[in-house]
Amino acid sequence: MSVTTESQGASIEVVGLSKLFDAGKPAVDNINLRIAKGSYCCLLGPSGCGKSTTLRMIAGHESVSSGDVLLDNRNITDLPAADRGTAMMFQSFALFPHLSALDNVAFSLKMKGVTKPERHARAQALLDRVAMGHLAQRKPGELSGGQQQRVALARALITQPKALLLDEPLSALDPFLRIQMRAELRRWQKELGLTFIHVTHSQEEAMALADTMVVMNHGVIEQAGSPHQIYNYPKNEFVARFMGGHNVIDTPQGLIGVRTDRIRVHNPAPDASLDAQHSLRAVVSDVEYQGSYVLLGLHVHGAVRDAHATADLSVMLPEADFAAQPRTLGDTVDLHWAAQDVHALAT
Ligand code: ADP
Ligand code: MG
Repeated sequence: MSVTTESQGASIEVVGLSKLFDAGKPAVDNINLRIAKGSYCCLLGPSGCGKSTTLRMIAGHESVSSGDVLLDNRNITDLPAADRGTAMMFQSFALFPHLSALDNVAFSLKMKGVTKPERHARAQALLDRVAMGHLAQRKPGELSGGQQQRVALARALITQPKALLLDEPLSALDPFLRIQMRAELRRWQKELGLTFIHVTHSQEEAMALADTMVVMNHGVIEQAGSPHQIYNYPKNEFVARFMGGHNVIDTPQGLIGVRTDRIRVHNPAPDASLDAQHSLRAVVSDVEYQGSYVLLGLHVHGAVRDAHATADLSVMLPEADFAAQPRTLGDTVDLHWAAQDVHALAT
């Protein structure tokens, strides 16, 4: 298999894109986004936030209420799905069960009237490319989940798209296979040099895959950026809570985020030494072993709590730190964090 170095992908831009299904709130509400060619973009957000609708408008499977979709700066908003230079790969792959892998891959060429020898030759070449050539005559039911994913990929690629659109492609897989398959998707994206737009509700999946993550909520984009940017600098309370791994603390100075792995746990000191801006007194309310980390649940109480609206925090302690000084339910502790680990959040 040859490795492509030059990008075969196209940039995708959405400008003022909206979708109104009925009189209520828009499913997608005036979003703007530019996805670099040859990059891996994940649309992430809770169920119902408008991810699939956005993807379907890019694919041409859903009409837009207003706004534009551009592929390599060409306006494709009103083009039929087949003429856009995009292709969709669906959850659970949606292969035809009664057709062989080869006929599944060749299917769209058959619809276009391409002759049998030519469509079979092209389908076989693509199956070879995804290391499935030797299983071309098998039906989907005779293939593993991973093999089916490769057939689905080959089927999507037969139309020579510049962008591949994937709607929760891994959701139907068991957790072990899901992690294997996401590594494979990432590898194919790099080798093919195509632009991938992948919808997921899993923060972990998006962080593992994306060059650019787009966090959506209620039809709008809350934040777009690299996984590192979004995880370390969540813009607001929603992103911090949705991404997880952060404590959202309402201090007298305003709402702040502090990562759960940036809080240190100490035995309680005399009250006067507690710096109200960077520490809190709390009681251990939960101890959860997570392998390399122990997750402590902490309840803030008393006068300190009155100054801080937040009652519950979490701290990730490296297993060795916890082993050196185990904490148990009901222990009173002081939590400290450094000024540089405080991140201001918009509400
Ligand atoms: P997500 O993929 O993020 O879970 P969707 O894009 O599927 O969200 O849906 C966004 C919103 O639009 C939801 O409130 C959903 O109920 C609504 N919606 C989606 N498709 C339709 C439709 N065909 N008709 C009416 N409402 C729809
Ligand atoms: Mg969806």
